[in-house]
Amino acid sequence: MLTFDSIHYAFGAEPVLRGVSFSAAAGEITCLIGPSGCGKTTLLRLAAGLLEAQAGEIRLDGDVLCKPGHNQPPEDRPVGLVFQEGALFPHLTVAGNVGFGLTGSGRAARVQSLLALVGLADFGERYPHTLSGGQRQRVALARALAPSPRALLFDEPYANLDSELRRALREEARRMIRSSGTIGVFITHDPEDVTALADRVVVLTAGEVVQIGSPRELYDQPETSGVARLFGQAQRLRAELAGDRLDTRFGTWPLTCLRNRPADGAGTVELTVRPDELTVTPDEAGIAVTEIRVAGADDLIGVGDIDGTTLFVRQSRPHGFEPGIKVKVLPKDGSVFAAPLPHRE
Ligand code: ATP
Repeated sequence: MLTFDSIHYAFGAEPVLRGVSFSAAAGEITCLIGPSGCGKTTLLRLAAGLLEAQAGEIRLDGDVLCKPGHNQPPEDRPVGLVFQEGALFPHLTVAGNVGFGLTGSGRAARVQSLLALVGLADFGERYPHTLSGGQRQRVALARALAPSPRALLFDEPYANLDSELRRALREEARRMIRSSGTIGVFITHDPEDVTALADRVVVLTAGEVVQIGSPRELYDQPETSGVARLFGQAQRLRAELAGDRLDTRFGTWPLTCLRNRPADGAGTVELTVRPDELTVTPDEAGIAVTEIRVAGADDLIGVGDIDGTTLFVRQSRPHGFEPGIKVKVLPKDGSVFAAPLPHRE
């Protein structure tokens, strides 16, 4: 286990992490997600020993990596980091990069087996500038694996690569972490990475953990509108909350559609609604369907174009809807988040 225990960190007077606690287990991938600037990279840099926390403890299988007054040097930590840009040494060959931290008689054989593992067995004598972006990322992964770290930390490693390559490298990293029993922590902004990779997801907002769970738990039971928006093309919509109803530009909805009740009980609210939690039925007195988009096996039915807003509803095919047909849109019970405006995530 890699455990972050009540971590506080500030750059100068600016608090970045405010009591972050979670654990990442061996042989699993823990994805860290959250809005830009919420402190994800800072957490990984603390775990790698590149920064020192002002309060809290980081432990690896019970060994304290850092606590106030004690900071194990980065080179003594069995922790590997893989960055977005790979950051290879330009003056060293591929084999030189992978073997950089290794010594001893088994070095050459270890380098060769790691290169074979990442599909680059014949690339040992090449220099980084002669490789593609995906190949450089593979070398970076092999280099991080070389000293057999107990924890591997990935900071958006595949953000610059095309989707097919991302998928292949993601699967490779997952397989290696599972089979070697390494602790994997993975920062990403891509919901597809999360659903494909994560055993557990830690959602951070403004330096605090807002929810921890499996991808399914976060999708089915998001605790905040921010978490609901991380997956599933959530849409924002203003509404007036009055009595037992919500007046929206797409019709009046009953309060039973709400997942939460805003604290002050009335006034303008911002709703977060997902296409799969809306239903659409033909209604002569309703709003016109304006477009139909293909979304994998389903379609997204676009309803209205009111002040530039189209509300999308997911429907499996065949459904019989087409542009021009008038419909009524209603959310399912307990599916919509309401936040008073001005909105704060
Ligand atoms: P992103 O998703 O955009 O990479 P992040 O969640 O990884 O963001 P961090 O890189 O951890 O965020 O940064 C957290 C906050 O700390 C940001 O507000 C950032 O501006 C600030 N910050 C990061 N590095 C420094 C630094 N060296 N000096 C001062 N502030 C910094």
